[in-house]
Amino acid sequence: MKINVKTKVGSTEYQFLIDEQDEMLGLNKAIALGNPPQYCQLCKNKEHFKMDSNKDKEGNTYVSVMCRKCGAKAKLGQYKSKGYFWHSDFEIYVKPGSEQNSGSSNKPPANDYQPEPPREDNDELPF
Ligand SMILES: [Zn+2]
Repeated sequence: MKINVKTKVGSTEYQFLIDEQDEMLGLNKAIALGNPPQYCQLCKNKEHFKMDSNKDKEGNTYVSVMCRKCGAKAKLGQYKSKGYFWHSDFEIYVKPGSEQNSGSSNKPPANDYQPEPPREDNDELPF
C-alpha cells in the first residue's frame, strides 16, 4: 500500500510517500507523520514549530518537533515492532556538562525527564 502524506510544520511543508506492504504499518506511519504534535504544554505555544533532527554519539538518529518559543522538543519514537509514535509531551533537553546550570533557569522540574519506552499495545478491542 502506498500513502502520500503531506504535513506542514512551521513554514516547511513535508511530503512523505509511505510504501509499506503491511497495511496497518503503512497507516500507522502515515497517521504519525501526518499529525506531528503542535501544542507545547510548557509555554502554551500552538503556532511556532519546526522539525528538528540530530544524532547521538552512537549514530542513532532522532527526529523531533521543536517549539520555536521555548526550545522544547517532542520526539518521534519508534515501536520495537516497527511503526512510529510521538512523545506528546514537549521536553527541554539539557546538554550534559552544560555550563549554564548556575543561576536562573527556566528548566522544568527534572523529574519529568524519563524517556518513555516504546509502547507495545497488544490489547484487543472488546468487540
Ligand atoms: Zn514551548
